[in-house]
Amino acid sequence: MSGKKITLDRVEKTFKTRSGNVQALKEVTLDIEPSSFISVVGPSGCGKSTLMNLIAGLDKPTSGSILLNDTPMNGPQAGNAVVFQKDVLLEWRTVLGNILLPFDMHGITWFDRGGRGTNRDAALELLSMVGLEGFADKYPFELSGGMRQRVSICRALIQNPSLLMMDEPFGALDALTREQMMYDLLKLYNKFKFTVVFITHSIEEAVFLSDRVFVMSPRPGEVVRDISIGLPRPRSIDTRLDPQFMAHVQDIRGVFKSQGVLTEV
Ligand code: ADP
Ligand code: MG
Repeated sequence: MSGKKITLDRVEKTFKTRSGNVQALKEVTLDIEPSSFISVVGPSGCGKSTLMNLIAGLDKPTSGSILLNDTPMNGPQAGNAVVFQKDVLLEWRTVLGNILLPFDMHGITWFDRGGRGTNRDAALELLSMVGLEGFADKYPFELSGGMRQRVSICRALIQNPSLLMMDEPFGALDALTREQMMYDLLKLYNKFKFTVVFITHSIEEAVFLSDRVFVMSPRPGEVVRDISIGLPRPRSIDTRLDPQFMAHVQDIRGVFKSQGVLTEV
């Protein structure tokens, strides 16, 4: 399955709360090419998760339209997979049991890979791709935070998604694990070529991973910059030393400074 195309046209979202209306998103218009890797970077509370929930079909915009492959969105769709900051693994299931959960929830023939035997093979292959061969029979409590998040990613990928959405997936991990997770994610992306919508507050992470970075203003979140990242793929540890990488990072820092998100003493 190749990646989905996503089109947002003047999408706005306002939450009605007991203490009044909260406008989370303002006039978000963007096009995401099939099989591209895009990041949304912005300060805490600017509406990133709101935006992802709308694209995932988990919530509806107050106004504006969202198209997936040129078809108006009407709720969660097959081929969408989501990874959150918290791994939400089931503690009473093994690693393999957690990865196969989507099949058990939808019936084992829900996704036609030819039955549970081959699903199991696919799960084991994904585990080895994220460096967890031999961990299939462990329980979540036996794993580190990074390993748990790798299992979550396998659980998303076993569904053979055409759109993978990740909401600050590495936010709870230490810096070194976080860096390794980026390399592993790019390896998976290069193999599967789904569309990725990656939400982060890390400028470096966004630039390193993406074909395009959408920079958001503080709430109500607007896309204030749309930056194409021309760094060649596959990217490597040395990509960070590329002057183009540093220029993009500086550029986005500049946007945050002008928005008052970053201030200097
Ligand atoms: P981010 O992910 O960028 O940190 P969010 O999208 O979670 O930001 O939230 C954006 C704004 O919308 C925040 O002010 C938040 O309090 C508000 N918000 C998010 N979800 C809801 C909701 N279900 N009800 C009311 N307000 C919400
Ligand atoms: Mg969020």
